[in-house]
Amino acid sequence: MRFRYLALAGLLLWGNPAQAETVGEIPEEEQPDSVSCGSTNRGALYDAAMLPARGHGFVMAEPWRSRGTRYGTVELVQLIEQSSAEVASLFKGSQLSVADMSHEQGGPLRMHRSHQSGRDVDLIYYAMDADGEPFYPDSHMAYYTREGQATHAKSPRRVENIPVRYFDLKRNWALVRAMMRNPDVHVEHIFVSPRVKRWLLTYAAHISENKATIKRATKVLHAPRDVKGHNDHMHVRIGCPEEDIAAGRCRTASAPKPRKSKRWNRLVHCPSPADVTLKLPRT
Ligand SMILES: [Zn+2]
Repeated sequence: MRFRYLALAGLLLWGNPAQAETVGEIPEEEQPDSVSCGSTNRGALYDAAMLPARGHGFVMAEPWRSRGTRYGTVELVQLIEQSSAEVASLFKGSQLSVADMSHEQGGPLRMHRSHQSGRDVDLIYYAMDADGEPFYPDSHMAYYTREGQATHAKSPRRVENIPVRYFDLKRNWALVRAMMRNPDVHVEHIFVSPRVKRWLLTYAAHISENKATIKRATKVLHAPRDVKGHNDHMHVRIGCPEEDIAAGRCRTASAPKPRKSKRWNRLVHCPSPADVTLKLPRT
């Protein structure tokens, strides 16, 4: 019943024409040659790529825009730009709201345990208004109840009454699918709450998504072991880019251990922020 309501809302989606926006092309020789160093929980970032404040189908709204956390590996920035553009081309009016990525040199980030090596990004769920029109991103990370409705936010600060919005199944699924299918970037995890995972997989089955995609999504979408939540955003983590593994600098469960793992921060390209070992509590 609940799902039927969500699905119905998800089918009502023809919004205003997308805002015309152009993204400046960066000449190839000026493109950063990012290196993800260490692990996502204890890492750093070299020659980071910066996500523009807005582009085709995405925006980084305040307060995130001013936090100095618009950085990631070249691959992560590419994934965000390509996936949000794909959703925008499928469904008019789509605007993905991008929250924290990493600092320019990586290292610890307030309120996060990971996000240290340019491979993590928080993406706020696409939302709709009561008429099924796309909801333009604002400064709230809307928290969705079991009914798929949000009237309050816990992050980036607690706000009891935010403009009401509804979980946009159609666009959120399209985003997950686009990211998983990116031929150049390997998506390792998409952290969501168990309820959001259930919604997305039920929706995918409902629209007869192909079985291989559903199978992959069943693995990639999951709740992290040690952090509750993700009813207000999805946390996407990409795998180590191949060159960064080859360089022996990027650490992940699926990548071989770098030869000089204990000295990763002293290797030529990897910055060693003075506070890189500082343990910041997640609040
Ligand atoms: Zn996160």
